[in-house]
Amino acid sequence: MRKPKIRELREAIKSMISKPYTTKFPYEEHIPFEKFRGKPVFNPEKCVGCGACSIVCPAGAIQLEDRVDEKNFMGTRKLTHYSGICIFCGQCEANCIADNQGIKLSKEFDLAYFHQGQDSHFVEQELLICRSCGRIIGAKKHLIWAIKKIGHLSFAQGILLNINQELLTVYSGISERKIEKPFRYTDIFKVICPQCRRETLILDEKIKP
Ligand code: SF4
Ligand code: SF4
Repeated sequence: MRKPKIRELREAIKSMISKPYTTKFPYEEHIPFEKFRGKPVFNPEKCVGCGACSIVCPAGAIQLEDRVDEKNFMGTRKLTHYSGICIFCGQCEANCIADNQGIKLSKEFDLAYFHQGQDSHFVEQELLICRSCGRIIGAKKHLIWAIKKIGHLSFAQGILLNINQELLTVYSGISERKIEKPFRYTDIFKVICPQCRRETLILDEKIKP
């Protein structure tokens, strides 16, 4: 038999006198170590509904679903996380545009469930809908996020200007009714998508003397 090396002997003695690495879970509470990557959890206050986490997730564990009520120009974006599919890589948190706070890996590791569907949780954000064609412009909180990023430059863009005015409680363009075609050139300042905005610009060009 090969004689144990000094280093191995030292390790064996050390392990005999030190505490075990394993814990007594589930008989005793287990506290994960500091950098443990557990279930990612949404923070509805911080999330702006951009959908970046859903795009970067390599496992497809974050589903994005947009629901639009075209009649009332209302919509919601629902992001659902499925921990049964998640591989806990942390890409969602690393790429979250809301300072990595919209979704964060928690210390939750005990993810066994009795029924399918219990492994999911979601966050919902309001969508801004074009008042003319009913297309989705984006998540309202995402647009407010953009306003904060670019500051006063946001006053140069129709939709952002409109949201700015609403935030300043100067004017509530968001609650406007349907904008009918043909557009008037002043419609450029209303809640319309880039495609409809382009049409208003062309009209503006046309009516110039
Ligand atoms: S931790 Fe990785 S696999 Fe899990 S939701 Fe985030 S990006 Fe997807
Ligand atoms: S803000 Fe973060 S958590 Fe929310 S949708 Fe965007 S990337 Fe995902």
